[in-house]
Amino acid sequence: MTRDLDVVIRAARMVTPEGETAGSVGVRDGKIVAVEPAATGLTTDRVVELADDEVLMPGVVDAHVHVNDPGRTEWEGFASATRAAAAGGVTTIVDMPLNSIPPTCDLPALDLKRKTAASQAFVDIGFWGGAIPGNVAELRPLHEAGVSGFKCFLLHSGVDEFPPLDANELELAMREIASFDGLLIVHAEDAHAIEHAPEAAGGTYDRFLHSRPRGAENLAIAQVIELARWTGCRVHILHVSSSDVLAMLASARRDGVPITAETCPHYLTFAAEEIPDGATQYKCCPPIREAANRELLWQGLRDGVIDMVVTDHSPSTPDLKALDTGDFGVAWGGISSLQLGLSAVWTEARGRGFSLADVARWMSEAPARHAGLRTKGQIAVGHDADFAVLAPEDSYVVDAAKLHHKNAVTPYHGRTLAGVVRQTWLRGEKIDIEAAPQGRLLSRVTEEGARP
Ligand SMILES: [Zn+2]
Repeated sequence: MTRDLDVVIRAARMVTPEGETAGSVGVRDGKIVAVEPAATGLTTDRVVELADDEVLMPGVVDAHVHVNDPGRTEWEGFASATRAAAAGGVTTIVDMPLNSIPPTCDLPALDLKRKTAASQAFVDIGFWGGAIPGNVAELRPLHEAGVSGFKCFLLHSGVDEFPPLDANELELAMREIASFDGLLIVHAEDAHAIEHAPEAAGGTYDRFLHSRPRGAENLAIAQVIELARWTGCRVHILHVSSSDVLAMLASARRDGVPITAETCPHYLTFAAEEIPDGATQYKCCPPIREAANRELLWQGLRDGVIDMVVTDHSPSTPDLKALDTGDFGVAWGGISSLQLGLSAVWTEARGRGFSLADVARWMSEAPARHAGLRTKGQIAVGHDADFAVLAPEDSYVVDAAKLHHKNAVTPYHGRTLAGVVRQTWLRGEKIDIEAAPQGRLLSRVTEEGARP
């Protein structure tokens, strides 16, 4: 009897970095202090036994979430976003620097965002900073204040207060970020290529697709790879949509260029051929491409060229999605899916021969490492006791109105998804989204237990 444990969770199926096993996990002071490969290995006064159809997974770390708070709280806010996260098995989100006002491009903006988030966090929250023209001097202070890295755009971001970097500004930012071994995360579409593409007007999805060609993505990623090669700056490609870039990423990595990449559930689920005209809930940038492209992205995950899957949850109000006119030219580009990411990915992954251990690697372990959150993303001793209890064979039909997102718009509406999240645990306690929020604000951690 190990009386010094606060709680023991026993599971017939549990996903650890070594794979899937039966097991029990011992928790003390919010940390995992013991992991035993047998369900009977540990005990204490409080023992939680999972049902036979449930799997103990590491909590999802969604490293790409636009919360938009403060400033555009009607699009999404910290309370609604983190409730949705908790309902979807997500125990940590990392908030993007833009669409909030002000964007997180200097210390006062980070302080304001942290103050705003602190009292409404149902899960833990980390923060990305922003790299925009003229803020190079703000990057090191933001890094020292604990942001996970810096996001930049290479074309108009969708909001005027977060302008893109041109080629010279990009190199300048990368040299600065390399000087403190920081991380640059890039929305990689080339402004020039998009300017010359056909305009995205009207309700035809095919026309919208042609307005954001693969070539624009390919060109931008080639530029980022070469700059990373010259400057040594660690870089990460956000929301890879064009499968053409997989060979480029693999080649860069073979050469030792410090680069990682993510894709999103919508690129792995939907296909351009099946998107109805006028269905602007599917609009995101870069766009959802053809079914054959989708299958190559899955191959990219299989080959390890794509490291992780994150949602890029980027909602707006329904009027800005132009659902009434269905005009892809004016609709906000962003897909709402924070609560659905885990089951959306599992639904598609299981039919392609992947396991829950693969899903945990893509959605928990890799994004935690990427965001510098060393105590997150794994069921392993020394990590935070953050869990998703998933019933992988159970399924549900998505009803947008019943999700905890602030706005009831998502392309997953009406879709049947496999994998029901029955419970979500944060630092050793089951999350209750009706009680007081227990989430904490996170800083990047450079080594086990040490603040930067
Ligand atoms: Zn985004």
